[in-house]
Amino acid sequence: MSILTSPFNTPYNSAPFNSIKNEDYKPAIITLIEEARKEISAITSNPDAPTFENTIEALEFSGQQLDRVTSVFFNLNSAETNEDIQKIAQEVSPLLTEFGNDITLNETLFKRVKSVYDVKESLGLNTEQTTLLDKKYKGFSRNGANLNETDKSKLREIDKELATLKLKFGENLLAETNKFQHIITNEAELNGLPEGTKEAAKQLAESKNLEGWLFTLDYPSYIPVMTYSANRELRKTMSLAAGSKSFKGDNLDNQENVLKIANLRQQRANLLGYNTHANFVLEERMAKNPETVKTFLKELLDKAKPAAIKEFEELKAFAKDLDDLDDFQKWDSGYYSEKLKQKLFSLDDEKLKPYFKLENVIDGVFTIANKLFNLEFNEIDVVDKYHEDVLTYEVTNTKGEFIALFYADFFPRAGKRNGAWMTSYKPQFVKDNEEERPHVSIVCNFTKPTKTKPSLLTFNEVTTLFHEFGHALHGMLAETTYPSLSGTSVFWDFVELPSQVLENWCFEKEALELFAKHYETGETIPMELVQKIKESATFHEGMQTLRQISFGLLDMSWHGSDNTVSIKNVKDFESKAFANTNLYPEVKENCMSTAFSHIFQGGYSSGYYSYKWAEVLDADAFEYFKEEGIFSKDVATKFKDNVLSQGGTENPMALYKRFRGQEPKPEALLRRAGLIK
Ligand SMILES: [Zn+2]
Repeated sequence: MSILTSPFNTPYNSAPFNSIKNEDYKPAIITLIEEARKEISAITSNPDAPTFENTIEALEFSGQQLDRVTSVFFNLNSAETNEDIQKIAQEVSPLLTEFGNDITLNETLFKRVKSVYDVKESLGLNTEQTTLLDKKYKGFSRNGANLNETDKSKLREIDKELATLKLKFGENLLAETNKFQHIITNEAELNGLPEGTKEAAKQLAESKNLEGWLFTLDYPSYIPVMTYSANRELRKTMSLAAGSKSFKGDNLDNQENVLKIANLRQQRANLLGYNTHANFVLEERMAKNPETVKTFLKELLDKAKPAAIKEFEELKAFAKDLDDLDDFQKWDSGYYSEKLKQKLFSLDDEKLKPYFKLENVIDGVFTIANKLFNLEFNEIDVVDKYHEDVLTYEVTNTKGEFIALFYADFFPRAGKRNGAWMTSYKPQFVKDNEEERPHVSIVCNFTKPTKTKPSLLTFNEVTTLFHEFGHALHGMLAETTYPSLSGTSVFWDFVELPSQVLENWCFEKEALELFAKHYETGETIPMELVQKIKESATFHEGMQTLRQISFGLLDMSWHGSDNTVSIKNVKDFESKAFANTNLYPEVKENCMSTAFSHIFQGGYSSGYYSYKWAEVLDADAFEYFKEEGIFSKDVATKFKDNVLSQGGTENPMALYKRFRGQEPKPEALLRRAGLIK
């Protein structure tokens, strides 16, 4: 028995960080995998006929201590890691994958699950139980459990080949990115670039024993050039290089890989009984099927396109005015947009930061949570922390009932990865009539306080904090029975609703007045600054929207096709998909698909639309708040009862309609973006 394999005897049953040693993890995980295997065998060897309780629920509640320990471990590997932890992660990850595969491929287990699933109508299950049964069954069937042996081995072949191709796609792309170098030796050609960018380019050149300034396709080098460089030739060179990655017909070309991946995905979907890869993916999304996604993108396109064209014409006219530019090209867009934005808004972070002292923003978000959801946050020091910077809170409702344990970890450190995220150490669930409340955490990388100045956040950091806190509310307010359906365990195109909707409060006077106070004078943020923030947030929204739609359409073209073998030419296929969304003159050297790693390497295939989908949801939901008042208890309660507390217990569209009284409509987003009146 180690500290990790026995129940934690701690306040709130919290993770005992101070008592765990790194060397405890691996043996504990091995022991707990064995225990979980025994729990699975107990299900499969049960002499009783399969029932929802003895099979589906038993499976759901198997391996709970393993889940507990692995979440502590992998949360630390993200927020406070070191070489030891990374090494352990590499050792235990394959063990966990193997354990997961052994469950999915366990035929006896699947037979039991299937026999419950086949009679589901007659079992008198409630909605959440039905969802759980469906999820468990699909966990097997979507991985081929229903196939005969020949087709099973076909599926495994396809999966193997797909894994190799995706890897190759990524390797080619990375090699292309790393291969490109552009050296400049005449300082005059650096006109317009910020000092920091020049300095970095100089250092990069020095590190390779080169004279001058070196530019690459890495974002910190590429983006400033496209945004600030007054040297049009430089912008053109860089843009062409970025746009033609893995599209040069050489050994790093990805055209074959793209065609093969699209084709294998379709074969895989067909084997499992789906018409296209998009049908397969979208079965487990709020959007449900490709038709909904295509209609959705088309509807947005109709509204955004006129605005995009107008913005584009204005931008061209601005470039003509400023530099007498006649043939506006793709590589001119970022540069003139930035110039125009500066002219219109002259908004910089330094002006805003004094109004956003971290402590004030935290108080603000807590006050808003109190006004909306009756939550109270009390800082506590009785639970272990994994780092002294971490703040811990007991969250209660106004009746004093315990709701959640909340960890907040704000500042960068060597052992923390970049970005910001919400995670949990323990989900909410009910087992044997006992409710367990969740332990939720947010992790950020905000500006640290110095000896003379407190932590002052940029506006972007403020919205990030609200965003992650929105995810945290989804976790904290959960009221479900099963842990795998609790909190943020929802369909992918629904998970950003609680986070994005909360960001809206950062733009509202009534909310800002609660916390946006100058850290020295206490003066509330001037409303003309708030107005500028709002306006600049929707600058060139038409063009941005058109761009996002074009990527979504390209994704759906590749994965919504039931005849991928007929696609022979990647560039031609792509041009057709882009036909309705193109603003710029065609560049024959460029191809997007061969570098579209989101959909050909990462997990976004048939999912790129989700970015816009989530925005539609959050704008539509927030409009309801605005109609009734942004602190309306009535709307907030509906949001809590039908969305935040419900996790993934039901199809999100049903949940959303119960909250809103209707399906989400894109008009609110279009209005917020200034695309319609
Ligand atoms: Zn998010």
